[in-house]
Amino acid sequence: MELIDGNQVAAAIIAELKAEVAAFTGRKPCIALVRVGEDPASVSYVKKKEKTAAEIGLTSRVILPPLSISQADLFALIDQLNADPTVDGILVQSPLPKHIDELAVFRRVSPAKDVDGFNTLNLGKIAQEDETGFVSCTPAGIMELLARSGVDLKGKHVVVLGRSLIVGKPVALLALQKKAGANATVTVCHSGTTNLPALTRQADVLIAAIGRAEFVTADMVKPGAVVIDVGINRVPDPARKTGYRLTGDVHFPSVSLLASKITPVPGGVGPMTVAMLMKNTVKAFRLHPAQ
Ligand code: NDP
Repeated sequence: MELIDGNQVAAAIIAELKAEVAAFTGRKPCIALVRVGEDPASVSYVKKKEKTAAEIGLTSRVILPPLSISQADLFALIDQLNADPTVDGILVQSPLPKHIDELAVFRRVSPAKDVDGFNTLNLGKIAQEDETGFVSCTPAGIMELLARSGVDLKGKHVVVLGRSLIVGKPVALLALQKKAGANATVTVCHSGTTNLPALTRQADVLIAAIGRAEFVTADMVKPGAVVIDVGINRVPDPARKTGYRLTGDVHFPSVSLLASKITPVPGGVGPMTVAMLMKNTVKAFRLHPAQ
């Protein structure tokens, strides 16, 4: 079994971006990071994004509206960033408070600055195989991780567990694209799927993104399969200082014994998500240098 090291691959991407950004004369690419409220996970995600941007030489602008912000005021803030020629990418950290329509917010971000890739136009561009769009960061990170680990999806059966707009659907569309590295036969499973293990056992490449701790067990995996674990779940663990441990959607101890390659959690897909956000920001700058 080979461990797919997301930290290592993400570090290589960050080093490439750093070299690219160093060669830009004048203004550097800028990402606006909007975090509403003080959700602890969001606080740490935005900190990590800010830190990685600085490491690459990008400018970041962190905007922290209060939890009570109205949808209209959040729209006004996004409109302002959309119109600001010194901002190349906009990220609105999810989750947003319940009174705000998250999809409407994603749609409000200008497609040219939608480095998170959740705008309707950018999701549509994946289906059209239009490379001028922005692919959402986790699916893009999964594809990059597979490519850089020498996994060619051509002719393979890829089974995706989960159909969210953030992970499952876009990664399924990417694997389906008729281009080098992709061109797979894709099955997408969800909570309405019957006899799920019979389908997952057919997977040459299994991508688990359902948000259920250690759901995928050895009896659900074909020996020699490549297993990508997207899940990030907090499982109570009184023995730890934090009171919990992080685990994926895959039961790593048993599945790693029969997979040919597997991503760990943490240290697999997670670091790739941040690296791809930075890559999208640099792409936004290159595509629209004077937004
Ligand atoms: P969602 O909750 O939005 O979607 C979960 C999907 O899994 C849904 O399609 C749901 O089906 C399906 N599902 C849930 N339970 C089952 C089940 N028992 N059997 C079959 N299908 C099931 O989750 P996300 O896609 O946002 O995230 C998935 C996981 O990935 C989470 O652990 C999340 O924390 C993690 N994640 C990690 C990221 C990273 O950077 N590594 C980034 C984003 C997410 P249905 O549609 O029918 O409800």
